Amino acid sequence: MPASPLPAAPSLLWFRDDLRLSDNPALAALAEARAPIAALYVLDEDSPGLRPLGGAARWWLAQSLRALSAELKRKGVPLILRRGPANRMVPEVAAALGAATVAFNDRAGAPEARVDHAVAARLLSEDRRVLSFCAHLLHPPGSIEGASGRMPRTFSSFQRAALKARRLDAPLPVPKHLRGVARPPAGEELESFGLEPTHPDWAAGLRTTWTAGEAAAQARLAAFIDSGLKGYAAGRDRPDEGHVSRLSPHLRFGEISPRQILSAVRHAAEAGAVTLADADKFEAELYWREFSYHLLADQPDMAQRNIQGAFDGFPWRECPGELKAWHRGLTGYPLVDAGMRQLWQTGWMHNRVRMVVASFLAKHLLIDWRAGEDWFWDTLVDADPASNPASWQWVAGSGLDAAPYFRIFNPVTQGEKFDPDGAYVRAFVPELAKLPTPFIHKPWTADAHALAHAGIRLGHTYPRPLVDHGAARERALRALESTRK
Ligand code: FAD
Repeated sequence: MPASPLPAAPSLLWFRDDLRLSDNPALAALAEARAPIAALYVLDEDSPGLRPLGGAARWWLAQSLRALSAELKRKGVPLILRRGPANRMVPEVAAALGAATVAFNDRAGAPEARVDHAVAARLLSEDRRVLSFCAHLLHPPGSIEGASGRMPRTFSSFQRAALKARRLDAPLPVPKHLRGVARPPAGEELESFGLEPTHPDWAAGLRTTWTAGEAAAQARLAAFIDSGLKGYAAGRDRPDEGHVSRLSPHLRFGEISPRQILSAVRHAAEAGAVTLADADKFEAELYWREFSYHLLADQPDMAQRNIQGAFDGFPWRECPGELKAWHRGLTGYPLVDAGMRQLWQTGWMHNRVRMVVASFLAKHLLIDWRAGEDWFWDTLVDADPASNPASWQWVAGSGLDAAPYFRIFNPVTQGEKFDPDGAYVRAFVPELAKLPTPFIHKPWTADAHALAHAGIRLGHTYPRPLVDHGAARERALRALESTRK
């Protein structure tokens, strides 16, 4: 068959939260048209309302852009980096390129949507074609509706409705035929974005823990399917074991799509490599992500405002010293401290421990969940505009289908149940490493001999508990009661 004539005018692919070449519908559409392509990433810290990335996410973005740029280069496609408001940068690069078409995959969030509409309107007014696709989620935000016409108000009804509506197409491969433009418009150097810390360089732990980029995301998925997914349903709550995927930062930056993950998991279950129970439980977790994004579409300001207005008068305490102790993993509760130090060292924390530390802040310390959400936003490599505020509000009790406020995690019994030998605590709180297991989650109950033998001086080498669990629980319940009067 004779090859179809190549359109002369180039195309522009605008990358955002979709830093991958496979299962990328915007790239696939441009590749199919066979026009020469230039790719663009805009670091937009100027458009009104966009939440600036936190420190750990900025670090990840730098690694991910480096990987994407190298992969595109291998395919002959240049990645142009620009910094500034997207509604100026994208049209400017499109004009310099003489692009006939600009394509991108949608991103969530009301301010982001405002920027995207402004960009698209400007491009259309300049007679360029604009193509956009849904690739970050399995279901476009707002597409799953309950009887009221709004999103279903509980997770289980949301998942039921979503599964009914789902059409799971096969993920798209990396396009075979890609052609880059010969003379791309000028861009900036990645280093000029200043995404990575220098003085002080706090990213050493991130560097030793993670490899960003599409190839690393695919490798992590393959390893998880091989050895983590089996036993996921029972093992996912154990921070001392390796049953979770750690795919969250890859998903956050779109180095892998939820469709690719779900297809691989379904395939493993159909081949009998894992049980349906494990596959279904994992799928449900992916649906919590979908639920959070639907919630973000329904409640665009949920990082700032209680979803349940009843919490607006909640008597939060202002206590910078206790907040700082929580930040640093110095609360005197080993599971909480291990989680907060895992977060600081690696930019990630196990889900069970995220729930315990969040509950500790909002309920034991009565500190506003927004202070915790902010800290996670700055320190998580997977800091996500939907899952972070939705999960914080879920734990605090102010969210949709949330854990009731009166359910207050006991950090000692949570530790004994989910880290029974204390391996997780010993890994992240090394000053407790030699403490015998019966005391590892409650060092203040150890006798003087056990403490001395383990080299611990409570109040000196490791803090005494910041609050007493029982008293803090009673105080939290009284605070809740006061909002109901
Ligand atoms: P896995 O168990 O392997 O799950 C696979 C994927 O499913 C995850 O990568 C994630 O995309 C999704 N997922 C799993 N659990 C949840 C959940 N409860 N809610 C939403 N999606 C989920 N997740 C983020 O991606 N970014 C955040 O900023 C974030 N902040 C959180 C804050 C708090 C207070 C809590 C309690 C949870 C938060 N989560 C967040 C959800 C969850 O803790 C992480 O998604 C999970 O720990 C990531 O590890 P994983 O990839 O190994 O998860």
